[in-house]
Amino acid sequence: MGCDIHMMVEKRIDGEWTEIDPGREPCWWCSDPGTKGTGTKDSCCWCRGSGDQRREWFDGRNYPLFGILAGVRDYSVDPISEPRGLPDDLSSGTGLSGADHSYSWFSLREILDYDWEQAYTYNRVVDPANYVVWKHQGTPKKSCSRAVGAIMGVVSHAEMEKVIKDPSNFEEFPETRYYTEVTWTKTYREVAKYFFEDCINKLVELGDPEDIRIIFGFDS
Ligand SMILES: [Zn+2]
Repeated sequence: MGCDIHMMVEKRIDGEWTEIDPGREPCWWCSDPGTKGTGTKDSCCWCRGSGDQRREWFDGRNYPLFGILAGVRDYSVDPISEPRGLPDDLSSGTGLSGADHSYSWFSLREILDYDWEQAYTYNRVVDPANYVVWKHQGTPKKSCSRAVGAIMGVVSHAEMEKVIKDPSNFEEFPETRYYTEVTWTKTYREVAKYFFEDCINKLVELGDPEDIRIIFGFDS
C-alpha cells in the first residue's frame, strides 16, 4: 500500500504553541462528480455534504523526501533525524488525524538550516522507452522502484539495447515488460521541490523560523 504524510503547523505565540489553520479547499471526492470521487456533494461520505475539506500543508507522495524527513519508505538516505515522536507541548490540533506511525517534528529553523544541496541518487528501473529518454536526457520520464522491477524482466543495458533493436530476440516477455537499472542524481532541494514551493516557502512568511514548527506522521 502507498504511504502518505500528514502534517500540521504550529506557531509559538506568547510562549504557547498554537496550531495554524491551513484553511479549507473543495472536497476532492465530490467537487468534480463524474471524473473522480464518489458522486455528488449531498451523498459524499468524505465531507458529509459540506463540499469542502481541510487543506493539506503538503500531500505529495514523495518517498525520497519521506526518507530525508524520517527514514520512512526510503532507506538510502540518512534522515535529518530519526522520528522524534510528538512534541511534549503539542497543541490540541487535528492535523495529524490520518497518521498512524513515525511521528516527528522540526522547527522551521532546522529545515532551513539543513544541507539540502547534497546529492540524492535515484536507483530505479525503466522500460525501453524511458531507457532511451534516460540515455539522452540523463533522467527518465517515468521509472519504477526496483521492487516493482523484480517482477519484470530486468536486463543489462547491453541486453536492453538488443530488446530495442529487435524485440523478437527476447520472447520471454512482451518488449515493454523489459526493464533495466539506471541511476541519476538530484540535489535534496530538487527532490523536495514541491515541499519547498507548496509548504516551506509559505511558512517562512508566518514569522520567526524559531517560532514555527511542522509536526508530521505517516499512514500505511
Ligand atoms: Zn465531498
